[in-house]
Amino acid sequence: MPEITGTTSIDFEAYCDCGYHMCNLVSSGHTKVRNQPYITITPCPNCLDSAKQESFDDGKEEGYAEGFEAGKAEAEQNLEKSNTETEKTK
Ligand SMILES: [Zn+2]
Repeated sequence: MPEITGTTSIDFEAYCDCGYHMCNLVSSGHTKVRNQPYITITPCPNCLDSAKQESFDDGKEEGYAEGFEAGKAEAEQNLEKSNTETEKTK
């Protein structure tokens, strides 16, 4: 469990906002120069996983939209071209 020592010592629990127990991911100490107590917090693995999944889903959605729009534009151009060629042969 992380601990901040000074004139008093404080034992505390640490939880991520999502509820994950963070005690193994929090460490404490004192700054070298000013001897101020500090804690460092490693990001919650649950939240990192959901952030990764979210950005994957966003990227997939964007990629699909870009691909769809590009394909649609190309198809429209080809249609226009073939219509023009059909006009010429008439
Ligand atoms: Zn979390």
